[in-house]
This record gives sequence, C-alpha cells and structure tokens, in this order.
Amino acid sequence: MITKEVKIDDLTIKLHRKNIKNMYLRVLPPNGEIIISAPHFLPHEEIVNFVRDRKDWILKKQELIISNEINAPLKYKSGETHYLWGKEYTLQLVSKEDLKKTVVDYDKNIIYLPVPKRSRKETREKILNELYRKELKKAIPPVLEKCSKRVGKTPSEVKVRNMKNWGNCRYQDKRITLNLKLAKKDPICLEYVMIHELCHLIEFNHGKKFKKLMDIHCPEWKKIKKILNE
Ligand SMILES: [Zn+2]
Repeated sequence: MITKEVKIDDLTIKLHRKNIKNMYLRVLPPNGEIIISAPHFLPHEEIVNFVRDRKDWILKKQELIISNEINAPLKYKSGETHYLWGKEYTLQLVSKEDLKKTVVDYDKNIIYLPVPKRSRKETREKILNELYRKELKKAIPPVLEKCSKRVGKTPSEVKVRNMKNWGNCRYQDKRITLNLKLAKKDPICLEYVMIHELCHLIEFNHGKKFKKLMDIHCPEWKKIKKILNE
C-alpha cells in the first residue's frame, strides 16, 4: 500500500493506493480526517471528480463528527484532548507503577497521567484536577501581586478549589477562592477573575459601580469573559 497526502480543492485527503477494485471514502473521528482508498492505477483525475461529487457529504460528515466530539462527555482516556493554560494537550495514561507523578511535556503537548490499574473515570479526573490545582497555585502569586497593585486591595488569602463558579470573594474575611479549572483557560482569564474578585473587596454586588471598576482595572474584561466561558 502506498499512502500520501493530497489536496483536492480545500480538502486535505489521505490517499491509500491499494490492490483493490473500487474506490472507498471514509471520514473519521476525532478530527474528521478524510481517507480514500483507491486502486493503484486509477487516474488521479477520477479521484478528484469522486471527491468533488461528494464534497457536500464530506463537509456535513466532518461537521457532525466534530460537534459530537465537542459535546461528548470527557472520559479521561489516552488520546483525549485536554486543556492547560488555553493550549491543547493530548492525554496519555501511564501505569502508576511506572510514573510517580503527572508529567507535562510542554513541547509535544502531552500530559502523562499516572493512574492505577483499571482506574475509574472519576479517579482519572481527580488526578488531572490535582495537576490543575498545582499549576494554578504556581501561577497565582505573580498574578495576585500585579492585580492587587492595580485594584489597590489585598485579600487575606487566596484558595484554590474545585467549584462551580470561576471565583468567589468573601467580603467578611476578604478571602478569595478560585476554581482550579482556571488552569485550563488562557492565562488572561486568571487575571480577569482575580481582578473581578479583588473588585468585590470594594464593591459587593455586580451593579453599575462594579462594572465601572472593572472598566478601569481590566478594560478588556467583556472580551475575556467571553473567552472564559467558551
Ligand atoms: Zn462577582
């Protein structure tokens, strides 16, 4: 079998030339990759026409695959895409006996997750959450310093938790709590949430006064809020 990548119009296709009689087309998850198997001596022209005739179907199929992938609940399995600081990483499960702690390969964008044998989804999720917690705790001090200066307020402490909201600020004891999943998002989101919570040390609710504070200390806040909730 000979495999090469060809471009037909704006579609990238993996073309397998094989010892077969007919041409076959497949569109595969998770990325909607297009694969064509064609007989060895079939003229390229015929492949081009074959693809053009089916272009609408291909695009529809790709769209379906990708939207299914996006909406599918996470399984925390090898090959799955997860996010760290806004970048895509591929999850790679490794036996706990071979790897003691989670390792991130920032160049190859791989997260190596040490898991026990026959682990449950919830267990793997917990282990990945610990990475997020660690990453966030490491990122907080410089962001806190920068944002505190900007807003002119300092919290009594900043905690990291797995929680529903992105952040929380207790006015009574000036404690800020941040969602560990902020480590999934672009770093600008951590800054935005930090400023938001610090502004609560001045203004309790989300009224006009609060929005004015956000406009001053984080002029791009509306844009960042959208990125955060994507
Ligand atoms: Zn708030």
